[in-house]
Amino acid sequence: MPSLKDFRRIVVKVGSSLLVDAAAGGLKRAWLDSLTADIAALHKGPRDVLVVSSGAIALGRSVLKLPAGALKLEDSQAAAAVGQIVLARSWSESLGAQNMTAGQVLVTLGDTEQRRRYLNARSTIAKLLEWRSVPVINENDTTATTEIRYGDNDRLAARVATMMSADLLVLLSDVDGLYDKPPGAGRDAKLVPLVQRITPDIEAMAGASNSELARGGMRTKIEAGKIATSAGTHMVIASGHVPHPLQRIIDGAPCTWFLTPANPVTARKKWIAGSLEPRGALTIDAGAVKALRGNKSLLPAGVIKVEGTFERGDAVVVRGPDGAEVGRGLIAYDAADADKIKGRSSADVQSILGFTGRTEMIHRDDLVLGGG
Ligand code: GLU
Repeated sequence: MPSLKDFRRIVVKVGSSLLVDAAAGGLKRAWLDSLTADIAALHKGPRDVLVVSSGAIALGRSVLKLPAGALKLEDSQAAAAVGQIVLARSWSESLGAQNMTAGQVLVTLGDTEQRRRYLNARSTIAKLLEWRSVPVINENDTTATTEIRYGDNDRLAARVATMMSADLLVLLSDVDGLYDKPPGAGRDAKLVPLVQRITPDIEAMAGASNSELARGGMRTKIEAGKIATSAGTHMVIASGHVPHPLQRIIDGAPCTWFLTPANPVTARKKWIAGSLEPRGALTIDAGAVKALRGNKSLLPAGVIKVEGTFERGDAVVVRGPDGAEVGRGLIAYDAADADKIKGRSSADVQSILGFTGRTEMIHRDDLVLGGG
């Protein structure tokens, strides 16, 4: 079985019921402090740690003393507005006490699903990691409406993990893993320690998709597992109802591992190279070809010609001066802007376009070289 210490970029998803004390009201600060102590130990490793934290709605409810029972959409959105501030402050204080900086990131479905915004969210979170901050991510519940909502942070966390090429997603939950019988099917159910592949049998163990327990339950965790493992991210489900939940996994607490045969960086590069229809092409000079082969990013200065109609975040083909394909990548500018800044130094971009764009036309993380 793998150990948390084997991984270099870990996304930890924390469920509402772990953080919020429904009976007493308020946030379980001592538990949070035990978790951030575990995060600090991994972070010093050094590893990148990202948090996807639920709890905005539940905390808002408790601060506002709203009655129990289902909330209407606008009520839960307004409750999240109150709760998210408390949630972010608690993470910031608790991580701060461990000498880490928290960076709050609120995302909606479009930020992870539309390429234009995907690139934005990805580079902002990458910058936080470069600064050694801990991104604390939640859905933007106050403005996300039903059609554009994830609704559950299990799948959101899986999307974040694959977007950031994380090699592990940890789902801290109410239960210590997947059992071999659906919830409610009797007491003799046994924990499944390892899932090599998510088959229909495994899905059946999680219960029917239309069951009451489905949302935020085992079913969405299996969906998260599919997203993660198909993109090269391993996943582990473990109980968060204990102090130091990450250290407990390291110490061998019962949990369920979902393994992936792939590597997240390779899987993302495969996605860029193979699954996206290129919308345009850039021709670059010999110096830039050499730079790319030396694992550098593509700067505007090396671009000779821009063809096609594309938007920021679209895939484009990159060709050498002889027209041969050098590779493919996700471009940081739309076609009109790319054309204006081609051949120019990155320092001139601001005066040409009137805004400060990215230094790179295509960042090396978004570039896949092909051919020789
Ligand atoms: N985003 C919601 C919140 O913070 C939680 C969604 C979930 O629990 O999966 O309240």
